[in-house]
Amino acid sequence: MIVKKRTVPLKILCNEALLRSIPPRHPKRSIIEMDLKNRRSGFQGEQSIDYYLHLLPESQYHIFHDLRLTVDGRFYFQIDNLLNSLNFHLIVEVKNYSGTILYDHKTNQFFQIVKGIKKSIDNPLSQVKRHKRQLKDWKSKHNFTNVPIEYLVVFGNPATILETTSDTTQVFKRIVRPEQLLDKIEEFEGLYPNQVLDNVKINDLDRQLLRAHTPPSIDIFQTYGMTSAELIIGVRCPACGSYPMNRENRKWLCPACGNISMDAHKRTILDYLLIHGTITNQQCRENLLLPTRNVAYKMLKSLNLPYTGVGTRRTYHLPPQAQLSTYLNKNGLV
Ligand SMILES: [Zn+2]
Repeated sequence: MIVKKRTVPLKILCNEALLRSIPPRHPKRSIIEMDLKNRRSGFQGEQSIDYYLHLLPESQYHIFHDLRLTVDGRFYFQIDNLLNSLNFHLIVEVKNYSGTILYDHKTNQFFQIVKGIKKSIDNPLSQVKRHKRQLKDWKSKHNFTNVPIEYLVVFGNPATILETTSDTTQVFKRIVRPEQLLDKIEEFEGLYPNQVLDNVKINDLDRQLLRAHTPPSIDIFQTYGMTSAELIIGVRCPACGSYPMNRENRKWLCPACGNISMDAHKRTILDYLLIHGTITNQQCRENLLLPTRNVAYKMLKSLNLPYTGVGTRRTYHLPPQAQLSTYLNKNGLV
């Protein structure tokens, strides 16, 4: 069963919001677009194993996607997929490389070759082994010491070619294609025939992992060296992309294409929240070019956002990351 679902990473949603919120010729546009492309490709890679995970016996595996934990409160580690059974736990990291991946067994280094250009990349096996050690530490801190932890790296892109400098097949024991995943899991099941957890204990572990999960916080301005002043002011036309739309008779009217929208402000407010994290009534008025406090209040209220503070001090927040995809879907903002 899936205990923690895979959702569109916040970084993807933030980058999309930022691209909608900067002028077409903004100098950082191409960097943000490139970054977004890489993140989408990574997310696509992660999804490549979902079909196979779905085929696992529902009751046997407790599955967590994108679990971000810390042992010391300072350094965090993020596990793409964690499969917990009563007998063993399995970490599955997914890589979505393009081109050819070359493993040099003498130096224990990985290289990526794309269009004839060779560059050194982080060793994906070292990374997953590090996560294994960190998870082991986390579990011993939370009194789950006796469960063996296994690990795998999945190359999610079917076009990736994996080569090694020698005949050794050692590296392929831990690096697999999505379609080999279930065979590998079966191998681990053979290796660990003994049950070390009971149902009460594994449910307790579920709860503790969910509680410990800490989503990353994103400072998009810091990431791209930008300021809020570089963003577009006004509501963007959903039909032609120009801005600002004018507010007339409780509707949005695009002076460029004549499009009329009842709720174009929703996207603008959510984009503001994805970029800034919070919004006040005054920020909403300034950013959407609204005439009165009351109009802004009604718009913000209709979005059913979580908020803190009362009266004029009220601050509206982006819904929590775990609920964000559902929220955006419900409001037609995907
Ligand atoms: Zn328009």
